[in-house]
Order: sequence, then C-alpha cells, then structure tokens
Amino acid sequence: MLGLSKVVDYDLPVPSIPPPEEDILFSRPPVLCPGCPHRATFYALNKAVPKRHRIVSTDIGCYTLGASPPLNAGHLVICMGSSLGIGSGLTQIPHQTDPVIAVIGDSTFWHTGLPGLVNAVYNKSQLLLLVVDNSATAMTGFQPNPGEMLSIADAVRGVGVENVAEVDAFDPKRSLEVIKEYVNRKGVSVIVSKGECRIQFVRREGLPDTTYEVESSRCVGCHTCVNRIACPAIMWSGKKNEKGKEIPVIDQFLCARCGLCSHVCPYGVIVPKKVTDGADK
Ligand code: SF4
Ligand code: SF4
Ligand code: SF4
Repeated sequence: MLGLSKVVDYDLPVPSIPPPEEDILFSRPPVLCPGCPHRATFYALNKAVPKRHRIVSTDIGCYTLGASPPLNAGHLVICMGSSLGIGSGLTQIPHQTDPVIAVIGDSTFWHTGLPGLVNAVYNKSQLLLLVVDNSATAMTGFQPNPGEMLSIADAVRGVGVENVAEVDAFDPKRSLEVIKEYVNRKGVSVIVSKGECRIQFVRREGLPDTTYEVESSRCVGCHTCVNRIACPAIMWSGKKNEKGKEIPVIDQFLCARCGLCSHVCPYGVIVPKKVTDGADK
C-alpha cells in the first residue's frame, strides 16, 4: 500500500507501531502444523531421494513451508502453478543428472498445474510430480475447489501419464518405496500423496482417541524425532538420560495425534496411548 500510495502521489497515513519488547519474541523458521500430512510426505521423500542429489521445484500452498529446514523440500518457488513448468525446464539442462521433482498441492494443481503437466508430457520430460493432496485449499481459508468432483489420478492419466500411483501420506514406509521406484522411471511420473489437512480433519472428526508419547526411560537421546520432522508438538522435556542426552517430550496440548513420529523414532520408543475423551486437551 505504501508503494502504491507513492505511485499515485497520495499521502497515506502510516500508523506508528512501537517495536516489540525483545524478550517476548523468539526466532523460529516457518513450520507446518502438528499432524500436517505434508510433513509425512516430505519425510518419505527425504528418505527416498538424498537431499544433495535432487532438485525440488515447489509451488504455492502450505507445503511451501517444507522448503525450510529440516525438511528442505523446495529449492525454488515462483508463483502458482510454476512448479511444473520450471521443473520441466530444469530437466532440459544438458548434463544435469539429478532427479527433478515438482511438488504441487491438489487445489493448485486444478488452478494452474494442469497446463504445465501437459507440456511436461509433450516435451517428454524426465520429471517426478508429487501431488500433495490434502483435500483442502488450506492456506487461503478452505474455499472449495474442483477436487471435490474430480480425480487427480484420472486427470493425470487422461493427459497421457502412464506411471501414476496414489499413496497414503501417513504410511511413510510405503510412500518411500513408491517414490524410490518412480523417481527413476522414464518420462513423467506422478505420485498423488493423499492425507487430509489435519486442521480440517480434526474440525470435522475431532481428535483420534490414540495419542503418542515418548517412553522417556527407553529414549536413547538420538534426536531423530526432533531433527527430521520438525513437529511443533515435539519439544525438550528438560530431562536427560543416564548418558546426559536430552530427552524430548510430546506436548499433548499441541499433538494432533497423526502418529508420524512413531514411524520416525528408530528405537520404537514413541508409542501410542489410548486416552479418554477430553482427558488430554
Ligand atoms: S493448515 Fe492443514 S495443510 Fe496447512 S500446514 Fe496446517 S495441517 Fe498442513
Ligand atoms: S527418536 Fe526416539 S530414541 Fe531418538 S530422541 Fe526421539 S524418542 Fe528418543
Ligand atoms: S503424533 Fe507425533 S508427529 Fe503427529 S502431531 Fe503428535 S507429536 Fe507431531
């Protein structure tokens, strides 16, 4: 607005905002909500394709936040629907051998993704498209989109893509296998990673009656859970184990009970726990 007011030579009144008191703010990178399906998809992507040997062209949506550490699933983002055009263009660079992965959400796919896909198929691009289908236009307020009546997998097959798979975002083991298999297939491949936006899911269904907790007596303090998925519900407990390693804890107020962390802990010490309604929130 300030820039526009200068162009039209209008004296826009600018309110004076006092600077915040330093000690009430702390810095942290932008982060996906607890229980977000995109976190699970990017966790599987990171296990399947090394970060150093891939190019990820991402797009506009909540999943753009996956570009931040530790997920690092996004080297570039330009504008809505650009992931496919840019990704397809990157595959044409001579001597560039790292796999190129385009990431787009379901509503952005319907909005401006399809033309880029059609051109990628036409140009015979060596491209993996990961559609992160959260069944919502979550970032901009949950407005309806054509995904309510159309199938992405059908549309993708309809424009000539032969390698098409659908996976459950909250099954990272299976997602990893499919990504590993599809990333090197010839031509354009598409994986639709389906997992509902956790905000939308919980609003409609309420929280599941199974939560997750760290068995602190068995935690070895490897911090895989903290460092790999950046779920805001996983935090430091303030306790250390006998080897002096800090032990994480799951904040039951923030946890959206998706269960991803139980797949991530290599020692199996993040375990499900039944709760009675309202007992933990
Ligand atoms: S609003 Fe939904 S899709 Fe967006 S970050 Fe939160 S859980 Fe994920
Ligand atoms: S990944 Fe498991 S063992 Fe490692 S710190 Fe987290 S809870 Fe503990
Ligand atoms: S179950 Fe684990 S990953 Fe899912 S929201 Fe709770 S702490 Fe986060």
